[in-house]
Amino acid sequence: MTDRIIEFLRDRRQNGLDDGPCMVLDLDVVRDNYTSFARALPDTRVFYAVKANPAPEVLELLARLGSCFDTASVVEIQQALAAGATPDRLSYGNTIKKERDIARAYELGVRLFAVDCEAEVEKIARAAPGSRVFCRILCAGEGAEWPLSRKFGCVPEMAGRVLEHAHRLGLVAHGLSFHVGSQQRNPRMWDSALKSSAAIFRDLAERGIHLQMVNLGGGFPTKYLKDVPAVKAYGQAIFRSLRKHFGNRIPETIIEPGRGMVGNAGLIEAEVVLISKKADDDKVKWVYLDIGKFNGLAETMDEAIRYPIRTEFDGDETMACVLAGPTCDSVDVLYEKDPYFLPVSLEIGSKVLIEGTGAYTTTYSAVGFNGFPPLKSYVI
Ligand SMILES: *Cc1c(COP(=O)(O)O)cnc(C)c1O
Repeated sequence: MTDRIIEFLRDRRQNGLDDGPCMVLDLDVVRDNYTSFARALPDTRVFYAVKANPAPEVLELLARLGSCFDTASVVEIQQALAAGATPDRLSYGNTIKKERDIARAYELGVRLFAVDCEAEVEKIARAAPGSRVFCRILCAGEGAEWPLSRKFGCVPEMAGRVLEHAHRLGLVAHGLSFHVGSQQRNPRMWDSALKSSAAIFRDLAERGIHLQMVNLGGGFPTKYLKDVPAVKAYGQAIFRSLRKHFGNRIPETIIEPGRGMVGNAGLIEAEVVLISKKADDDKVKWVYLDIGKFNGLAETMDEAIRYPIRTEFDGDETMACVLAGPTCDSVDVLYEKDPYFLPVSLEIGSKVLIEGTGAYTTTYSAVGFNGFPPLKSYVI
């Protein structure tokens, strides 16, 4: 949370514009994050993962700073172009694309595509001839607070075949990608994927296909309740692994930070709607906010992401609370298995500040479930 955000919220309240929860994002923090990535990984190009926060101001700032963009749909491609990025700075990084969307991306000038199977390679060969492709390999996602499962990527043994197929069909077999899982708190988790990558590089080189690039994905964390290592530690661990597995032939690398670029730039202000107990002798209170899983806090699913919450009563005695959202859906509970400790003095009508909410909040918000409007967003 920054002074600029706190001032903005104070003005908003004083001007009577306070009509529901909102997320305020400070562009100065995004600028600092971009600089930290560029310094920590000086030979690596940054492709910001647009889905984390596609606000035009964020994309425009990053485009000005020289960032490239990882996009997942035609709309995201158009958003990045509108922000001033040229198509050679875009990657269509979703492994699941309709052929007509590939054709549209090609028309818009995009020439870099992700694949993870031969069927997707065939679509790209037809709709975006001659383009560069990189194959995503599966990654265990261990140590990540928001792991990415087996939805994307193929086993390393298959990746060689997928890229050979691309080569055969006239595409440029450009490289490999992986994602170590979002909010990855262990900088050493890139090592095993880099080891597999180096083996695929060697294997394909023997067959006359010379890959150029490793896409190191996202996963760089933002600070929630637990401390996380600095970006610098990630840069060092990744560089060590690159040296170890590729020797003197370190390939071109790119990163695709989403959360790590915008997470700590955003703050949500919300309000306590109700505080109650379910029985007189209950040890926990229920605290209902005007924000929940459907209007911004979807990442509390399975209580995966635990946001720091500030109140004006911080420092007072605390008690265990179940924290829930305002809708009439029973899944709209944020923290219950592991209750959240909040001040006993917290009152109905109190404001709460939810930190680290610049990523995966505004666009994860429903259009109007139960009549609650989507999360408002201000970029300052
Ligand atoms: C979502 C996504 C990212 C961003 O991940 P973070 O963990 O937010 O950094 C990067 N690359 C791809 C392909 C993604 O889908």
